[in-house]
Amino acid sequence: MKSFFKHETTEVTNESRLVQQKVRIIQTISQSGQGVTVPEICKELKISTPTGIKLINELQEDGFLSVAGKKKTLNGRKPSIYKLKNDVGFYALSVEILLKRITVGIIDSRLNTTYYRQNTDFILENTPQCLQKVESFIQECVNNSGIQPENILGMGMGITGRVKNETGESLTFFNFMDQPLGEYFSQKFDLPVFLNNDTRCFGQAEKIIGKAAKANHAIVINLSRGLGTSLIIDNKIVNGGMGFAGELGHMQFGNKEKVCLCGKRGCLGNDVGGFALEENFMEKIKQGQKTIVDFPEDISSLRYDEILTAALNGDELCIKLLQDMGYKLGHALGNIVNLLNPELIIIGGKFARLQKLLLDPVNTGLTSSALSNPLNHCKIEFSELGDLGGLKGAAALVFSNYKLIKD
Ligand SMILES: [Zn+2]
Repeated sequence: MKSFFKHETTEVTNESRLVQQKVRIIQTISQSGQGVTVPEICKELKISTPTGIKLINELQEDGFLSVAGKKKTLNGRKPSIYKLKNDVGFYALSVEILLKRITVGIIDSRLNTTYYRQNTDFILENTPQCLQKVESFIQECVNNSGIQPENILGMGMGITGRVKNETGESLTFFNFMDQPLGEYFSQKFDLPVFLNNDTRCFGQAEKIIGKAAKANHAIVINLSRGLGTSLIIDNKIVNGGMGFAGELGHMQFGNKEKVCLCGKRGCLGNDVGGFALEENFMEKIKQGQKTIVDFPEDISSLRYDEILTAALNGDELCIKLLQDMGYKLGHALGNIVNLLNPELIIIGGKFARLQKLLLDPVNTGLTSSALSNPLNHCKIEFSELGDLGGLKGAAALVFSNYKLIKD
């Protein structure tokens, strides 16, 4: 199959216009769900019949379309109906870059993962060496995936930290170049690149294939090592003026003794999240409290995942730490409920599997701060998207750009 997606340009040449028309034909067929005839395409795109036939023939030769029968008409010729040959033939190269984890996947337009690899030894640093590692890992994954590069429509990337999604700039990590990160990867991989914050990507996935699919107003919490939030208002993910909306983790609901990475005191992310859990756990151990966690000799290398597992296995200390955390999160969310009146709050990320331990304290926290009317109207759910939610959301950035999925 030949790819024409990579050669889209903003300069309007005869060739680029034909490329854009082909993309629109694919979008039209994809959205129709039924297949489309040449006259219907010509009407939709406002092009002549010879041009329509030429484009359709080329798309068919390139392996994108096939004939799915003839349209029934009352009289005259019965035009052929064209369908996308196999809509899972389009893929997004999807990348999620977190503080201690990088995941790369090849995702189809139904957001199914056909290939993925995760490196949990990865440590995100704002250095050219780390960027080089990211690049090599992506390339290695593309090579190993078995997917022909020409079938990849684009790269979707979710990265932790502040991101200006419209310009593809990552302001917290890999910000040392004289070009936006999105543009850098676009040149390296010869693909259009769509960049957003990892939590906004996760929210996108919840909205398309997750529990927020039917909600017009929802708050999606990404609770893993850090605490991120995606806001869905009027059925749209809110990016904010510059792409920085949803920084619940840096709102001042936390302990004023602690100084956050951002330099301020009292940020909620210092009290709620995997990093906070590790810190609180170590503090309790130093105080002599007992636990079933088999912590390493160098206690600083302990991962919060083990604390979550111990809590689920009934460890009293870990349960208590999680209950405290759940209450604090709920209390902060109650304020957001008063502000935005969401109909749904989804708790996702690595903590989603703690539903049976977190639900009650989160509810107690919510009740302590939210007004009863908006709170009664708001459901609390836990995400079922699993580990690959953010990766799928990053892929959705690519497909929604081509209007191959409805976001
Ligand atoms: Zn902060």
